[in-house]
Amino acid sequence: MKVLVPVKRVVDYNVKVRVKTDGTGVDIANVKMSMNPFDEIAVEEAMRLKEAGKVTEVIAISCGVTQCQETLRTAMAIGADRGILVEADVDLQPLAVAKLLKAIADKEQPQLIILGKQAIDDDCNQTGQMLAALLGWPQATFASKVVLEDGKVSVTREVDGGLETIALTLPAIITTDLRLNEPRYVTLPNIMKAKKKTLDVFKPADLGVDVTPRLKTLKVVEPAKRSAGIKVPDVATLVAKLRNEAKVI
Ligand code: AMP
Repeated sequence: MKVLVPVKRVVDYNVKVRVKTDGTGVDIANVKMSMNPFDEIAVEEAMRLKEAGKVTEVIAISCGVTQCQETLRTAMAIGADRGILVEADVDLQPLAVAKLLKAIADKEQPQLIILGKQAIDDDCNQTGQMLAALLGWPQATFASKVVLEDGKVSVTREVDGGLETIALTLPAIITTDLRLNEPRYVTLPNIMKAKKKTLDVFKPADLGVDVTPRLKTLKVVEPAKRSAGIKVPDVATLVAKLRNEAKVI
């Protein structure tokens, strides 16, 4: 059984991004890029399923610029068997990515696709859901536990009131939440091994997908700066300020 894991190259979570002076987006020139953290969790989960003997092949896919190959090599160093890059220089929005992933799924016929619940750069939280709709497959988003059995998968999800467990028939889509697992460290021998694994490259046109952006970003601005706080001498002053100035009680 094959599992596909889409991995996105994003600005590393430790980087504090700055808005470009012309307000067209954030400046990502010369900043550290890494695999989206939720996608690392997805690769780790796929590896655990493989190590448990429930999955035979794990394929990592990334859509974007040539440098996404590095992200794929990281996925292969964690343990993915091979990688696929869909190379495109344009800004790829979730619908375009979902269409590309559908085209790859049609070729590879996986039983499971595990994505991150969201990419930490655009915070869209859309690709997995759109992919499920395009494929007509059941989906379990925000997974915190995955149990794969013959022909079906049971997924525990974190919802407002607690935990919900749902059963899906395969093939299915899962998106990962933070508490699903703790990804392993990538070791040097595995980084070396990953260099020898197969990495196929396609262009969107090879897959018959039009990736033209459908949404236009009008303006990106820095969040308003927080003004400095003050110290109050006692609880009575605090309560008075909350009641009369902040008007929250
Ligand atoms: P988003 O809908 O943009 O928040 O992304 C959700 C998930 O979709 C990510 O965690 C990835 O698993 C996958 N994804 C989004 N964009 C890409 C991309 N360009 N290449 C590969 N996977 C992607």
